[in-house]
Amino acid sequence: MTGIAMPSRAVGPACRACGAGLAHTFVDLGMSPLANAYLTADQLAKPEVFYPLHVWVCDACLLVQLEEFESPEHIFADYAYFSSFSESWLAHARSYVEQVTARFGLDARTQVVELASNDGYLLQYFHARGVPVLGIEPAANVARAAVERGIPTEVRFFGLAAGRDLAARGIRPKLLLGNNVLAHVPDLNDFVAGMQALLAPDGVVTMEFPHLERLMAENQFDTIYHEHFSYFSFVAVERVFARHGLTLFDVEELPTHGGSLRIYARHAAHTALPVGPRVEALRAHELAAGFGRLEHYLTFEPQVRRTKLALLEFMLGAKRAGRSVVGYGAAAKGNTLLNYCGIGRDLLDYVVDRSPHKQDHFLPGTHVPIHHPDRVRETRPDFLLILPWNLKDEIMGQMAHIRAWGGRFVVPIPEAAVLA
Ligand SMILES: [Zn+2]
Repeated sequence: MTGIAMPSRAVGPACRACGAGLAHTFVDLGMSPLANAYLTADQLAKPEVFYPLHVWVCDACLLVQLEEFESPEHIFADYAYFSSFSESWLAHARSYVEQVTARFGLDARTQVVELASNDGYLLQYFHARGVPVLGIEPAANVARAAVERGIPTEVRFFGLAAGRDLAARGIRPKLLLGNNVLAHVPDLNDFVAGMQALLAPDGVVTMEFPHLERLMAENQFDTIYHEHFSYFSFVAVERVFARHGLTLFDVEELPTHGGSLRIYARHAAHTALPVGPRVEALRAHELAAGFGRLEHYLTFEPQVRRTKLALLEFMLGAKRAGRSVVGYGAAAKGNTLLNYCGIGRDLLDYVVDRSPHKQDHFLPGTHVPIHHPDRVRETRPDFLLILPWNLKDEIMGQMAHIRAWGGRFVVPIPEAAVLA
């Protein structure tokens, strides 16, 4: 059985960070539609576009990455995800704002700029404290929602041209932040160069993104989708920032999105902010865990294949026993999971989601219908499969009433499990 552990090899595209040719597969999840391409009933009978979901690791700089198949303009033009619909994410944003406001002395005289500011869910907390804010958001529909709540927002993609343009207009942020945007940027070098051009000389950049170490350790292959181009270790992201004259001076490990990093960067010349001990500690930790060696990355694919088999065994077993299974959360990660595992309406009756923008639509690829959460009370399923497992506790609280008829919660990751 040596075959199962053998890494697949192929000649891929050029590394988006260092330009080297990509030759090593991190994981190949087959063909999948864009994870946020929810379908209307009319669209079900029409052809659907599938793209390879093939993740590479660069043997030169060790950045884990997906090839760009669709332009960001197409992916993000009418993005269905409104941040304000998740209560735990709002609490996370509020506590971040309190922390950085105190630490970096933000007030009415300091500018805050957020990249991919969504519907203004985070900037609203700075705004309430009287700190001048500006959001940069490429999706027109969510930017409109931000403007309606009084958050100044420009609809545009960010990169070097935008960074220079804003700086020329006198916008030099003391705090430049981006949560869950760095991983979604196809032209990574252009984006980081843009931040360097925009940031005030004594300014601070903070960025949050899922940590590759957690993705691998907890088997979170369902966080891989086409909109998510890069999967960062600390050592890889540090190299990208250094190339553009930005030094990482602090880092925190966060529980969000299954385990994220929040990095703090400043201009290399701004040595008044010293590099803190957490930087060296995390770098040393990652190198000890194998993130400096290609071989470590090649252990992931066999693990993902085993997880698929375990989830299918559960779904088939439930079906054979005459049990009903429905899903909670029409999130992007659920779409990767269901498409990769080949789970459609034959195994999963429907999913529910609180967002009215998704209800009465269908999941891409699998065509599973999306309903209002009240549907669960009406149909009394035996199992509720929690697709956004990172919000498991919140969802189990909201849906606790399924226990009244003996309903049980199931998570697919890290291993299919029925929860007590
Ligand atoms: Zn590279």
